[in-house]
Amino acid sequence: MKKILTGIKPTGDFTLGNYIGAIKQMVKMQDEYDSYIFVADLHALTIAQDPKSLHDRIKKFIAMYIACGIDPNKNTIYIQSENEYLPAMSYLLECNTAYGEASRMIQFKEKSKQNANFSVGLLTYPILMAADIIYLDADLVPVGIDQKQHVELARDIADRFNKKYGETFKLPEPLISEVGVKIKDLKDPTKKMSKSDDSPQGVISMFDDKDTIIKKIKGATTDSDNEIRFDEENKPGISNLLNITASLTDKSVDDIILECNGMGYGDFKMYVADIVANKISSIQEKYNEIVNSNQLEDILNKGKEKSRELAKAKFELMKERLGVGR
Ligand code: ATP
Ligand code: MG
Repeated sequence: MKKILTGIKPTGDFTLGNYIGAIKQMVKMQDEYDSYIFVADLHALTIAQDPKSLHDRIKKFIAMYIACGIDPNKNTIYIQSENEYLPAMSYLLECNTAYGEASRMIQFKEKSKQNANFSVGLLTYPILMAADIIYLDADLVPVGIDQKQHVELARDIADRFNKKYGETFKLPEPLISEVGVKIKDLKDPTKKMSKSDDSPQGVISMFDDKDTIIKKIKGATTDSDNEIRFDEENKPGISNLLNITASLTDKSVDDIILECNGMGYGDFKMYVADIVANKISSIQEKYNEIVNSNQLEDILNKGKEKSRELAKAKFELMKERLGVGR
């Protein structure tokens, strides 16, 4: 059975973009793949975090994965930092990655510009991400398009290691969904919706209540020609709302345009807001059931054990290939 894996950093509230870009695809594929999903708490440390908020978010994310449809019986669910082999493997990979290669990553370039005191971790995090992916020989990694370059780096690192030291890793591929590739910020639809951005009005959280969601979508930035048409360049706001709706309803953008034929922007926004608010509130109902039950400990213990076992075997093999150790 082929393996599929994804993870999200607990750097802020779980967003609609995370759901559409990563989780929804995992749910769709969990029947046919050996599936792994984790909370990337070590990646969150690449930018400053308040320890208490970070800690609170970790289990919330796990519960949210399950509420979004990730089935604990079909997925290995774990917390990244509970697998200490991953940072150890990452170091071995770092020594086989060129500085130039790591510093060319677009996210590193962007995020290092935002803070002059950026950490070394910001540079090396895509290498830890490579370890996250290749330790279990993942075949496919469902990610939003913003993470495509990092999955390609993981593939390059694995390929180089195999060529230099002998077959050790399977080469992973990114899996980008057809619709909703990149959900944009509602206030600035030229920018990706991101949980760590300081733009509460532009970002829909999976924890937002109905009224907040409706208010945010009503306030979404659009254009002035009052025509519902998909044109990401000239009409990024409307195109974003079309993308969100198509993705949540599993309809095509063309079908949505037909359905909304004749609507003004006000009605269209209400139509979109209803779909988004209903979807998120049904996910929240499940979320509340999950956090109030005590199933998470068991799920996380099993996930930790399985992911550590796989990583230990790969770590030992890497050390042998590299000639380190006893
Ligand atoms: P941060 O701002 O801290 O980078 P983020 O919202 O970008 O947070 P990540 O943890 O970096 O979230 O990414 C988790 C997953 O969600 C990745 O697969 C990423 O590609 C996907 N993703 C994030 N934002 C979007 C978006 N706006 N549209 C589609 N997919 C997204
Ligand atoms: Mg991101």
